[in-house]
Amino acid sequence: MTSSNVFAIGPFNPEERAALQETFAPVFLSGPDEIAAQEGRDAVSAVAYKGHAPFGAAQMDLLPGLGIVANYGVGYDAIDVAAADARGIKVTNTPDVLSDDVADLAVAMLIMQGRQMIQASDWARSGNWAAKGEYPLNRKISGGRAGILGLGRIGREIADRLAAFKMDIHYFARSEKDTPGWTYHSDPVSLAGAVDYLIVALVGGPDTANIVSAEVLAALGPRGILVNISRGSCVDEEALIAALQSGGLAGAGLDVFLNEPNIDPRFYDLPNVVIQPHQGSGTVETRAAMAKLQRDNIAAHLTGAPLLTPVN
Ligand code: NAP
Repeated sequence: MTSSNVFAIGPFNPEERAALQETFAPVFLSGPDEIAAQEGRDAVSAVAYKGHAPFGAAQMDLLPGLGIVANYGVGYDAIDVAAADARGIKVTNTPDVLSDDVADLAVAMLIMQGRQMIQASDWARSGNWAAKGEYPLNRKISGGRAGILGLGRIGREIADRLAAFKMDIHYFARSEKDTPGWTYHSDPVSLAGAVDYLIVALVGGPDTANIVSAEVLAALGPRGILVNISRGSCVDEEALIAALQSGGLAGAGLDVFLNEPNIDPRFYDLPNVVIQPHQGSGTVETRAAMAKLQRDNIAAHLTGAPLLTPVN
């Protein structure tokens, strides 16, 4: 199938570009700000979208024939779904195929933070191990109390993994789930007060902005570790930095930030933060599966078949 009526917008890697080229022969744009200058944009019926720049009413109105925005990623907070609805545009995402990787990274950051793996590695590399002896004792992680903020697809994978680490599982979601043995909390402050580790696996967007508030961080407390693999917007970053600086929180493992990749430079000075560059789904295998699901959704739309993973 080829169609020049497809725009592929965003930083697709060479393999993704080649597959898109072979399937749709799209016009490649590096970002949505390039749409306006494209001749032939009136004929575009599908957008393969990758990235976190907003794609909303202004961009959709430049593409009057648009029928689908297929997002690369499960989180579609960059896409204005209400604006798409209002124009009869379908939105798809790439759920499930990335949940294992994101959950793996969440657990890894928790263990890295608690066991001070980066500092311990530096200790060995710097010669301190030989010169000064064994690394100072750190903190047991298995058997603790874990709170999952958002028990969706990724949240459940994280909870399953932490249960295997003999942890007591608590969670918050908008409704109680059928998860015997796990404790439901109807508000995030109650959840944070009941656990040692708080792992954020919510959707992003305005409805969840700053759910991890100063009050939640205070409830988590000085022994608490926060892990965020969802979106930077879910956390009050000022409150987080203050808690990390003051000892109000033991530490954090963060894959996502406000204003990434230009993150708040105060994070770089905090030894009690494990920083990851938003690479939760960043494995060769998973990115290939995400890219294929994105292409399959566009192919379904162009051939009139049911969409595989519709959002709206
Ligand atoms: P999901 O299955 O839709 O789960 C989302 C969770 O958010 C659910 O527990 C849901 O609660 C909760 N939620 C949604 N709207 C809410 C609201 N208004 N208030 C409170 N809670 C709300 O999504 P998923 O597949 O697990 O993905 C979760 C997020 O992870 C994505 O949206 C994305 O932002 C992020 N992500 C990050 C990476 C990375 O690289 N770090 C990779 C992939 C995804 P209910 O159960 O009550 O519906």
